[in-house]
Amino acid sequence: MKIFCVGRNYADHAKELGNAIPDEPVIFMKPKSALLQPHTPFYYPEFTNELHYEVELVLRVSKNGKYIQDKFANKYYDAITVGIDFTARDIQAELKEKGLPWEKAKAWDNSAVIGKWVPFASLKNKNDINFGLYKNKELVQQGNSKSMLHNFDSLVSYISNYFSINIGDLIFTGTPAGVGEVVVGDELEGFMEQESLFTLEVK
Ligand code: ZN
Repeated sequence: MKIFCVGRNYADHAKELGNAIPDEPVIFMKPKSALLQPHTPFYYPEFTNELHYEVELVLRVSKNGKYIQDKFANKYYDAITVGIDFTARDIQAELKEKGLPWEKAKAWDNSAVIGKWVPFASLKNKNDINFGLYKNKELVQQGNSKSMLHNFDSLVSYISNYFSINIGDLIFTGTPAGVGEVVVGDELEGFMEQESLFTLEVK
């Protein structure tokens, strides 16, 4: 199982971090060990002093493929949820400054959180999915799939030009504006279309 992540897929978020808006999707990966397993506590990692949440729509790959054309891409994923791409922002800033890879900031154990799966078949319009995140009951991030620079189909197609995609792989499709810090004791709740899909306490 592989976890693909997309960076800078919402213009408003690229701007808030002072990044240019890329023409092509920014792709990075997390290993399988990054996925927080159900009923497992989430602990604030020791190596960071600036842990950020990034709420994202997450796709579940349902078919193996390679070199998938845009127009067929929707056959390759069947469910969606919201998740968090946890990021050690202080470490990321250091790595970015040196032009080094991001894994230490993004790919550590339990840095990928996902909620309950929702089948695509039950959604009205995949290009109009509202989602977001509450921190301690306060709305901190809100986005809509219509604001993505690269939509689900073009992401799947693009990724498959470089990597085979396989059943069970996950694709984190990028975060909207509003990323911010969490501290021990914070409670996060991710929602999609008004439905709560996960809650998590930072321990
Ligand atoms: Zn992200």
